[in-house]
Amino acid sequence: MAPPERKDKLCGKESMKSEHEGAAELPFWKTKTLAEMNGSEWESLCDGCGRCCLVKLEDEDTGAIHFTDIACRLLDTESCRCRDYPNRQAFVHDCIRLTVEEVERLSWLPPTCAYRLVREGADLYWWHPLVSGDPDTVHMAGVSLRGRSVTSEEDLPEEDFPDRIVSWPNRVPKGARRRAA
Ligand code: SF4
Ligand code: SF4
Repeated sequence: MAPPERKDKLCGKESMKSEHEGAAELPFWKTKTLAEMNGSEWESLCDGCGRCCLVKLEDEDTGAIHFTDIACRLLDTESCRCRDYPNRQAFVHDCIRLTVEEVERLSWLPPTCAYRLVREGADLYWWHPLVSGDPDTVHMAGVSLRGRSVTSEEDLPEEDFPDRIVSWPNRVPKGARRRAA
């Protein structure tokens, strides 16, 4: 296998505001496509896991994308949030702004990512803040980067990146697999 080359990182979230539409009605993520969502609905879909802010590597031979346990230099690994979201692209040029088109295009979105789940017609999991009403449940369920052994890309030479390929960002933790009721 040839050494994988550096791949874009992704972003696309700011808030985790609850957007439930009333007890008797189905929530927006069950009734709307991604393209039909308004701005606040779109932003609230992000669960704040931080998985997409891990450095990814692309295998030159196969095109396969691999996650590493190396975090983008702007990621706060405790809050799992970007330290400078409004100005991020001035510092991290390969940070992608998540759009409907990008959600369609990107093959590597984590299986827990709400944008991917809605794209695939699947329901959110119990720990998603829109379901639980609690922004901490994404951490409690072990879905986010909090508590993981993650290193900043600033603290590691790039030639060491291939040694940091991990599979857990492509998995749903055991206790996190129940869907919303
Ligand atoms: S993987 Fe998806 S849900 Fe998690 S932080 Fe990234 S955009 Fe948000
Ligand atoms: S710049 Fe911010 S949003 Fe973009 S990948 Fe880095 S931490 Fe994530």
